[in-house]
Amino acid sequence: MSFIHSIKFRFTIWYLLVLAVLLSALSAGVYFYLSRSLYRGLDDSLILRSTELHDIPAILESIRQGEFQEELGEIVILYFYSGDQLMEVSPRGTNITLSHEFISQAIAGTSLFATIQTEEGEGLRLLAVPINISILGPPPGIQPAALVIGRSTKQIDQALAGLLRTLIIAVPLALALAAGGGIFLARRALKPVDKIAQTAQEIEETDLSQRINVNTKDELGRLAATLNEMIGRLEKAFQRQKQFTSDASHELRTPLAVIEAESTLALQKERPSSDYRQSLEIISQESRQMSSLIDQLLTLARADAGKEQWNFTEVNLGKLITNLGTDIEVLCQEKGLSFQLGQPQDLVVKGDEARLRELFMNLLDNAIRYTPAPGTVSVSLRREGQMAVAAITDTGVGIPAEDIPFIFERFYRVDKSRSRAEGGSGLGLAICRHIAEAHKGKIEVESQVGAGSTFSVWLPLQSP
Ligand code: ADP
Repeated sequence: MSFIHSIKFRFTIWYLLVLAVLLSALSAGVYFYLSRSLYRGLDDSLILRSTELHDIPAILESIRQGEFQEELGEIVILYFYSGDQLMEVSPRGTNITLSHEFISQAIAGTSLFATIQTEEGEGLRLLAVPINISILGPPPGIQPAALVIGRSTKQIDQALAGLLRTLIIAVPLALALAAGGGIFLARRALKPVDKIAQTAQEIEETDLSQRINVNTKDELGRLAATLNEMIGRLEKAFQRQKQFTSDASHELRTPLAVIEAESTLALQKERPSSDYRQSLEIISQESRQMSSLIDQLLTLARADAGKEQWNFTEVNLGKLITNLGTDIEVLCQEKGLSFQLGQPQDLVVKGDEARLRELFMNLLDNAIRYTPAPGTVSVSLRREGQMAVAAITDTGVGIPAEDIPFIFERFYRVDKSRSRAEGGSGLGLAICRHIAEAHKGKIEVESQVGAGSTFSVWLPLQSP
């Protein structure tokens, strides 16, 4: 990625733009404030001077003695009309030309300021004040005149020019320093982003063990931690997937090996037909087991891919369990178990009837499978608040406490050989949990080794 397109660059440019506008506004403010206050000071000194010189004899005396404040570049000129002629009295020959209008206005009685340039190119601030002078005549009397006092603006101009020079150097210098600092800070702050990108590039589909090594407590640190958690979850999911595939292959290999061994054995030599029958029965049983395993694998694969078709309708759980009871009773009798069906209430849930039947059938199958005769399998249905709770209880082998957290995992079996011998695949409970969760419900287990187990299915009731 080129620097121009980087966030660092954009950050810095924006920051510099804002800073440039602020510094320029501040500099202009300082310049104009200083210029105003310096000129105000000069104007005040001119007003003060005009009051000192208001007295004509004082002026004439000052003019005569040349007492003007030369160091201030002061000039004093008195204007008055003699007939139509504008007369001018000044201590030294001035080289300034004032507009006729400016002087006439002052003679007419208005005090006014002006700034002009002398012929030498120097600035001069002028104050013209009206004044009355007495003349000896002819005819003698009092006559309006204008006293113009001027002082050089050289010092003010020099001070302002100095300030301007300083600002012209200081502002770009400050901006350059700020740009350097900005790039440095942006680079430092965004370094973790490069690290995150680099780690993300290094992560391979097959190796998710890498983690982003950013341990700051800021937003980027939190982002890195969140991404690490996500990679961790992906790694676990990937591991599970790998485990599942290897377990599935293993599970399929066992019945296939039995089928192969049995058929090879049967074909080795001529045998009595009863031996063939026995072999075919074994092969048929293993094929059934394989076929049911493949069905379950397909169900889980569809669940994982989110491609299941659910047919949600109103399901009367009481009726569903009563109907199942008839089949279960037969299966229990075959195994020498007694079956008890409580008085199921008419509880209605919103669900997929076929999948709920599969859920209960799996749990009842397990209850029968893991209960040796003589024992009892019972089913009850009750209401708990807004939930329907179907409990399947057996007096079977029970599940050790340390195994309970894992029995819903795929291919997890407490006693592998027993489960297989009984036709179990280790996928039944994983499918049950999936169906319960798809109905926004859950399955709870209570069990005691040697005493039996109770699987309770909680399903939300259809709201009225
Ligand atoms: P399986 O096909 O092996 O029965 P499941 O997923 O249905 O697989 O069950 C997982 C394991 O949980 C079983 O192998 C068994 O050890 C244990 N289990 C399930 N139901 C019961 C039960 N009612 N009594 C005792 N153990 C059970």
